[in-house]
Amino acid sequence: MKIPQATAKRLPLYYRFIKNLHASGKQRVSSAELSEAVKVDSATIRRDFSYFGALGKKGYGYNVNYLLSFFAKTLDQHEVTKVALIGVGNLGTAFLNYNFLKNNSTQIAMGFDVDSEKIGTTISDVPIYDLADMEEHLNEEEVSAVILTVPATVAQQVTDRLEKTSVKGILNFTPARLSVPPAIRVHHIDLAVELQSLIYFLKNYPNPDTENSQETNDVDR
Ligand code: ATP
Repeated sequence: MKIPQATAKRLPLYYRFIKNLHASGKQRVSSAELSEAVKVDSATIRRDFSYFGALGKKGYGYNVNYLLSFFAKTLDQHEVTKVALIGVGNLGTAFLNYNFLKNNSTQIAMGFDVDSEKIGTTISDVPIYDLADMEEHLNEEEVSAVILTVPATVAQQVTDRLEKTSVKGILNFTPARLSVPPAIRVHHIDLAVELQSLIYFLKNYPNPDTENSQETNDVDR
């Protein structure tokens, strides 16, 4: 079944919350509780969950075990997805040291850089390879997504090389707006722009209650 993209984007958020509920021994949860916890209005939650085949019962709510197994299956949590990090600078190193596996089944399997001081080392057990050998390593390990933390000036040329690899998705942390072939999906996370936008909102809309706060929430974009 095809889940709408806006709903799909909220899936990991729901999954994290449901996992916590399950860990604390809860058997069921109401859409109101969910709404409060994940900050998504309850009508949206009910609509989203109807796509998951989860029908909440009045006065009972949703079955936590059902939701947990649905999310785990849908998000492919039983299989570890391999991701590569390109550009082992300050931001890139922070990602390598951040243990993604702790919270989900995504693993940074390798890093790439052009700096000979970094090539051949490991950071948090992740091997750092020469960017010159990128295509070979990505294909060999069937890496499906990359995190891009190279300088913006080289982001496009690195991206162009991904076309001939197993990579289908790019999480782009550089300010460069990338052109990609239709088979590759890009999600942009421009920290400077996000911060600037937040500060603009603080100055111009000082009271979030007067605005629909969901509009500024990234899961709803
Ligand atoms: P640092 O202080 O380690 O340089 P930074 O994040 O401030 O960190 P950037 O200039 O953004 O530095 O570079 C990020 C990383 O990308 C560096 O490790 C750099 O060696 C690497 N890098 C530079 N050019 C390329 C390239 N063409 N391909 C891959 N990595 C590159």
